[in-house]
Amino acid sequence: MPMVTIKGATLPEPAGIYIHIPFCKQKCAYCNFYSVTDISLQKAFVKVLLREMELASATDLCFDTIYIGGGTPSVIPSRHIDQVIRQARQLFQFHDHVELTVEVNPGTVNAADLRDYRTAGVNRLNIGIQSFDEASLKFLGRIHSGQDSYLTFKNARQQGFDNIGLDLIYGLPKQTPQQWRYDLQKAIALEPEHISCYMLTIEAGTPMEKKQRQGSLTPLSEERICELYNIAVRYLCDHGYEQYEISNFARIGQQRDYRSVHNSKYWSFTPYIGLGPSAHSYIHPIRSWNCREITDYINIVQKGKLPLEDQERLNRRQQIIETIYVRLRTAEGIDLTQFEKKFGICLTDEFSSLIKLLVKQGKLICTPSRLALTSEGMLHHNSITLMFI
Ligand code: SF4
Repeated sequence: MPMVTIKGATLPEPAGIYIHIPFCKQKCAYCNFYSVTDISLQKAFVKVLLREMELASATDLCFDTIYIGGGTPSVIPSRHIDQVIRQARQLFQFHDHVELTVEVNPGTVNAADLRDYRTAGVNRLNIGIQSFDEASLKFLGRIHSGQDSYLTFKNARQQGFDNIGLDLIYGLPKQTPQQWRYDLQKAIALEPEHISCYMLTIEAGTPMEKKQRQGSLTPLSEERICELYNIAVRYLCDHGYEQYEISNFARIGQQRDYRSVHNSKYWSFTPYIGLGPSAHSYIHPIRSWNCREITDYINIVQKGKLPLEDQERLNRRQQIIETIYVRLRTAEGIDLTQFEKKFGICLTDEFSSLIKLLVKQGKLICTPSRLALTSEGMLHHNSITLMFI
């Protein structure tokens, strides 16, 4: 388990809580996250979620993040979000400072909801803007307009949120560099603390994949996607955002660091527990996940059982592969000393010619203490990771 030194004492690194709210107003054309549009189950769901929290609270982990995601948490009334936070606060142990994030989507949240979130202790907001361009929003199947996004952001600032992240999507079919720059400019003009740029992936079972199969949708060429990625990296860096993970950029200053503390746990094998349908947990070395269907979830928890679907114990080889995979997603990269201490493998000895080649190509940075991909290298993250395993 990763350790951290606090006030001279070495303690287990603070853990995270992820809470999945599985409701959306409408399914977006590209989405394969688990959510349902029938919100009639929300009251029963929240009741059961509070019960699941009781069942999961027998842990000695101490937490410093709560991330309420989905789905669209903002489609359920803010009083339910408040109930969930209160329950977590009551049942689990927390460090002094807790990063408490709620994901919201424009068109589902108003100023009063945001005020209620603040009162409930929410101190970080993540807004699913995706694009400011109306045609792109329509293509993605989003329910909101660009105007809704401005309004949500403005309301959030007015309610005192000083740590706001925006999500954008790029790589839409036929998307031009000009169109992508337009989205980036609009996002930066709002001056958020954090921006995530996700590349559109066409997932199996989604309406978008069906269109692709039928031949009415042609994905963007790889060359163009690389161009759009490079535009984002350059543009955001030029405007004071540091790329700390392939898709994530934050303002990082001496006063405050706006990297997502919660999401960073996923890239460092820090323990987290997931609550709600389809949520995953990781408590070294076991990964487990909840059942996906909301009705199954409700039935199981109502019987007083944890809604676990399955779990796997990561063996040494899996841990090595996953450490390389997730750490190379981050700008910090792999801590070579820690890696050798944990797995008994000196990566720089084992892969010396590969490392030399990748460094020469400008894709890798290798210092005596760490191995990390450059922005250029991150673009080829999957293929480079495969070379190490
Ligand atoms: S709002 Fe988010 S979770 Fe819901 S369908 Fe759209 S992308 Fe998926």
